Amino acid sequence: MVRTRIAPSPTGQDLHIGNAYTALVNYVVAKKNEGKFIIRIEDTDRTRFVEGSEDHILESLAWLGITHSEGPDTGGPYTPYRQSERLSLYKKYAEELVVQGKAYYCFCTPERLAEMRKGQESRHEPPMYDGMCKAFSRQQSAIRVKNGEQHVIRLSLPDEGVTVFTDLIRGEISFENKLLDDQVLLKSDGFPTYHLGVVVDDHLMEISHIIRGEEWISSTPKHVLLYQFLGWGLPLYAHMPLLRNPDKSKLSKRKNPVWVSWYREQGFLPEALLNYLATMAWAHPDEKEIFSIDEMVEVFDLSDVQTTAPIFDIEKLRWMNGEYLRKTQNSKLKTQIYDFYNGIYDEDTIAKTLPLVVERMKTLAEYRSLAGFFFERPKEHEPPLKVAPLKVGGEALRLSDWNHDAMEHAIREASEKAGMKAKDVFMELRVAVTGKTVGPPLLESLEVLGKDETLRRITL
Ligand code: GLU
Repeated sequence: MVRTRIAPSPTGQDLHIGNAYTALVNYVVAKKNEGKFIIRIEDTDRTRFVEGSEDHILESLAWLGITHSEGPDTGGPYTPYRQSERLSLYKKYAEELVVQGKAYYCFCTPERLAEMRKGQESRHEPPMYDGMCKAFSRQQSAIRVKNGEQHVIRLSLPDEGVTVFTDLIRGEISFENKLLDDQVLLKSDGFPTYHLGVVVDDHLMEISHIIRGEEWISSTPKHVLLYQFLGWGLPLYAHMPLLRNPDKSKLSKRKNPVWVSWYREQGFLPEALLNYLATMAWAHPDEKEIFSIDEMVEVFDLSDVQTTAPIFDIEKLRWMNGEYLRKTQNSKLKTQIYDFYNGIYDEDTIAKTLPLVVERMKTLAEYRSLAGFFFERPKEHEPPLKVAPLKVGGEALRLSDWNHDAMEHAIREASEKAGMKAKDVFMELRVAVTGKTVGPPLLESLEVLGKDETLRRITL
């Protein structure tokens, strides 16, 4: 049974776009294999905990349509799915490792560790625990623990040999054990570190594929050793490349919006965002650019994922979103716009105006700038109105029947009579009615706006 998961930490305001990307791939791999996709909340770092983060993460995943079979909200056979509710499990395994000599109690104070790190820094050595407490006998340490001395539990790693694992995307990856740190497994507050929590839970929750960002590669050998020490079978690993800004720097808040909720608020469609994410580091075998997640499920294979840094380019996403808007049925898009603007625009007018503006729209948020004038008289005119051509146009419209051809005919005739260029009169009417020089087709817009409202806007 294929079981995949994402294990977000509730340390940010919402789902990070990079996490949405890994969520998509995990979801697709599970679906392709008729497996299960699981959400586990890794909330063991209490110093970075952000209230409300978990809810926002779940909301954003639901908005994207990435549904899970098991998780903190839905429950499931391996409940609870929140690490802070599973503390006794981690303690049990950490202590088992101590008994086996694969982990040890460490009593070093924060001051001593800081001192040690300073020394390493000045000698340009990598920051690593120096192993002081590893030298104590087990009896000695047990007595100190009994006496209530503050302690953590550290992983006891071999100084020799290499740890090797196979990555489904990158092939074999090996690390020299002497370069691996004796990682803390259980903190003095009884919470596990990421390394212990992730291994225990991935094993107990029977996760078959661990698909995550490449920033976790350097942690993987420690996890592999933990699996071996605990006598557990290894899951399969796949480390996805990190998304980059167009200048190749790591996707970060300063250069690109990183929270999924931002994309939602800007009026991107979830289908478009997912489709765009799908094209990061992977290409549809038929070179299709626009495809649904169901289509992706059919043809996706982890081994086809590229390791070169995928560029997340908002302009490209905006283009794709526009394509999705035009693919959406008018009646559905009408409801999406109605909801997006919280019902401030009436559905009938939205339906009538959509065909006039959808060609130019890239996001739902652009509907307001393109079609807002249908609902509200312009407050300003840019450039300022010119009286003469406006009068000519206004007179012609006053006498005209209210359909495209009649209006066009009347305006052209009146312009000619007044010795003006019809194009100038049309432009003036446009500015008077919409406030701007560019916008949807004018006469069709006037048809929707109606004669009374149009003449009101033209009358100075
Ligand atoms: N809690 C980790 C995170 O915040 C999970 C990493 C993993 O998938 O192993 O992304």
